[in-house]
Amino acid sequence: KCGICVVKCPFDAIEILNLPQELEEDPTHRYGQNAFALYGLPIPETGKVTGFLGPNGIGKSTAVHALAGEMIPNLGRFDEPPDWDAVIDEYRGTELQDYLVGVRDGDITVAQKPQNVDQIPDQFDGTTSELLASTDERGELDDIVSRLGIDPVRDQAIESLSGGELQRVALAAALARDADFYFLDEVSPYLDISQRVTAARLIRELAVEEDRAVLVVEHDLAILDLLADSLHIGYGQPSVFGVVTPPKSVRNGINEYLEGYLTTENMRIRPEAIEFEAHAPRPVENADVLVEYPDMAKSYGDGEFSLSVDGGEVHRNEVLGIVGPNGIGKSTFAKLLAGRLEPDEGDLGMDLDIAYKPQYVEADERVPVSAFLSGITDEFGTSYWNTEIAQPLQLERIMDQLLTELSGGERQRVAIAATLSRDADLYLLDEPSAHLDVEQRVLATRAIRRFAENRETTVMVIDHDIYVVDLLADRLMVFDGEPAQQGHASTPQSMRSGMNEFLANLDVTFRRDERLGRPRINKPGSQLDRQQKRDGEYYYTG
Ligand code: ADP
Ligand code: ADP
Ligand code: MG
Repeated sequence: KCGICVVKCPFDAIEILNLPQELEEDPTHRYGQNAFALYGLPIPETGKVTGFLGPNGIGKSTAVHALAGEMIPNLGRFDEPPDWDAVIDEYRGTELQDYLVGVRDGDITVAQKPQNVDQIPDQFDGTTSELLASTDERGELDDIVSRLGIDPVRDQAIESLSGGELQRVALAAALARDADFYFLDEVSPYLDISQRVTAARLIRELAVEEDRAVLVVEHDLAILDLLADSLHIGYGQPSVFGVVTPPKSVRNGINEYLEGYLTTENMRIRPEAIEFEAHAPRPVENADVLVEYPDMAKSYGDGEFSLSVDGGEVHRNEVLGIVGPNGIGKSTFAKLLAGRLEPDEGDLGMDLDIAYKPQYVEADERVPVSAFLSGITDEFGTSYWNTEIAQPLQLERIMDQLLTELSGGERQRVAIAATLSRDADLYLLDEPSAHLDVEQRVLATRAIRRFAENRETTVMVIDHDIYVVDLLADRLMVFDGEPAQQGHASTPQSMRSGMNEFLANLDVTFRRDERLGRPRINKPGSQLDRQQKRDGEYYYTG
């Protein structure tokens, strides 16, 4: 035991990793004896979007409480907390000094978007308009609301909104304010890609055109890339200690984070790289057909929403990615396949047994995770199940916790495990990446792929994180149309043509990063962006 990391000495980590030098100095904040300690702070910069990337539990929110002036960081002296003057003394001569003086003097105003939008209905009783009414400090609210597409829910009660609607209302409430410093804790959960891109553009305009400082925590790397000017990495041992690096370029920051090695700091933060396996989609010739479905049509009520499906095949033993906006008929299509809905036109001729993980995961049973999962499969606890499901989804640590007491990311991992543990012809996962940090996303993605390969089973995955879709899918099904009015499902196609069709609708182009092969959004109007649009290659797979 080294005496520095007092709770659970991360010694096994340090043997491989070498000890961060910061840990020999006083932390910026420590919650108490044997409690979490944070080293360093991100630096908000006027006119810029600063990104903050790191695992859950590494101190991102803690850092923000300090920067927002909600808490005076105690410099590790939790028994005798210092005042702001002492803290500023500590940061004298650094880039943070002026900022902290502003916080001390109450000259810095802060607007925040909280991480868990699901909790907003517990705290606010009223309509969208009522919630937004007091936030219109810059006179931009109407424009923001219209660009985020939440006009239609203005008169709706907050408690009746979907996750994606709540996310956009919460974002509008933060962006409409007149503040010096904006802190946005994850903007992408529940948003489809086009909504993510719109949110990213609004945030950039606020920072650059209105000259504000914006700090964003985000786990969707493609969006982070598009959004941020610079990036702080948070590393350490979640729940034990966290270190915030000085700002890096976004590209280097993301690459170093994935590689598990911080170049400037000469610091290994993870024993191994998060490998971006630009996997070759498995070949489709001679594929066995699980189901061949005809052209189908389905509408609800008096045709308020109608879906038309181009007939196609789902192959045995493939991962079929599904992309398209929210409210376009993706779940409706799944229900048609499962025989839970009858099409108005077209007849499937068979019903598939489908294991389904919905987008919004509810967990209202007060039972431990282990009891819940062992009730689903006899394989629970076998070495196969442990290696293929429990380990990659990091379930061991939470087996004894009650379902009702799990965090969003924990609940998501349990729901994925529960779905993959069922016996079915087809596994359908709706937004498995929501609430997971980058590492968890990659692990979950890998677990899903291995499951499909080892079990020779068929998986359909709806996700809005391009990175996740790219890693997982062999082929792609593209939905388009007018959300909540009419949707159209194209026949499953190759990744390349599918991504091209989908991204052309969105007017964004991707390239692959030379170093790690991960997909990156081209800056709009850049040379590559224009070139690829001319060539009709929105998704550069080469
Ligand atoms: P992140 O935002 O990166 O997920 P947080 O800053 O919320 O991380 O939390 C970092 C660690 O500090 C966690 O282990 C959390 O349990 C702990 N923590 C957060 N707030 C408090 C508090 N008020 N008292 C004690 N520990 C806390
Ligand atoms: P997605 O999965 O792409 O988000 P859905 O298939 O869930 O879309 O829904 C498509 C549209 O149909 C939405 O506008 C939704 O509100 C509407 N809808 C879904 N189920 C029903 C239903 N049972 N009755 C009426 N409308 C429905
Ligand atoms: Mg947090």
